[in-house]
Amino acid sequence: MGGQRQFAPLWVIIQRRQWLSDQEQRNAAMPHIDPESRLILEQGKRLVLVCPHCQALAHISATAVPRFQELQSYRPAQIGIVFRCDACLAPIFLRFTARAYAPTRVELAPQFTEVERARERFDGTYLPEEVEMLFKEALTCFSGGAYNAFASMCRRTAQALFSDLGEAGKLKLFDALNEVRELAALAPEAFAKIRSVLFGIASDPRPGIPLLQSHEAGVLLEVMKDLLYQTYVRKGRLEQAMRVRRFFYEEARNPPRVTTLPNAG
Ligand SMILES: [Zn+2]
Repeated sequence: MGGQRQFAPLWVIIQRRQWLSDQEQRNAAMPHIDPESRLILEQGKRLVLVCPHCQALAHISATAVPRFQELQSYRPAQIGIVFRCDACLAPIFLRFTARAYAPTRVELAPQFTEVERARERFDGTYLPEEVEMLFKEALTCFSGGAYNAFASMCRRTAQALFSDLGEAGKLKLFDALNEVRELAALAPEAFAKIRSVLFGIASDPRPGIPLLQSHEAGVLLEVMKDLLYQTYVRKGRLEQAMRVRRFFYEEARNPPRVTTLPNAG
C-alpha cells in the first residue's frame, strides 16, 4: 500500500496532509447525540478521515450510537461510536469525550480519538538494514500517534543515512530537502522544523529536536518517505530493471542449446 502511494506526486500528498489538519479543525464543530440516539454534526457536516482499513481519505457515517437514555442514566466521561467507512464499508471506532449532559442532548467534545489508526507503511526492500529498522520503528511511532517519538526516530534514521552515505551524501540529502521545500511549497516554519529534526547541529551538546504537532509530523513523514525513495528505492528499482533487461539481452544473444534426444523408435 505504502509503496503504491509513492506514485502520487509529493506535493499533492503534502497538501493533502495540510488539508487534513484544516479538516481536523473543521471537525471542531459541536457534535451531540439527540434524544432519538442520533449523532448530529454541525449543519450536515460529515466526518472525514484516513480509513485504517482501506487507507483512503473517506467520509464516514455513524452506524452504532449509544442509546440516549442509557447515556443519561450512566453519564460516562467517554462515549464510543462506531462508524462505517463509505469507501470500503469497514467499521471504524471513534471515542469522544462527553462535554455536557443536557436534558435534550449529550454534547460531545469536538476532537475525537481514533481507536484504530491507519498504519503507515514503506517498502524497505532497497534500504540498508539499519536504516530500514530505524524507519520501521519511526512508522510505528507515527501510527501510534507518538509524534515526538516519531521525530526522534526520524533523527536516528537520518543519522544512519548520513553514516551510510558519507559527507557527500549528506550534502546531497540537504539539497534534496531544499528541492522538496520548493516542490511542495512548504511553509518556512514547517521547513525549518523538519530541517532541524533531520540535520540538527552536530556540535549541539543537547540536540533540541523541536516539538511537532500532528500535521507537522505528517509532513515530516512524507518528506522522509520521499528522501528514502530518492536515495535508495529509485536507484534499487532501476538497477533491478537493468539487470532484468541485461538478462534478456544475454539470453537473446546466446540462446540456450536445445539438445535433440535420439529417436526412441
Ligand atoms: Zn475504508
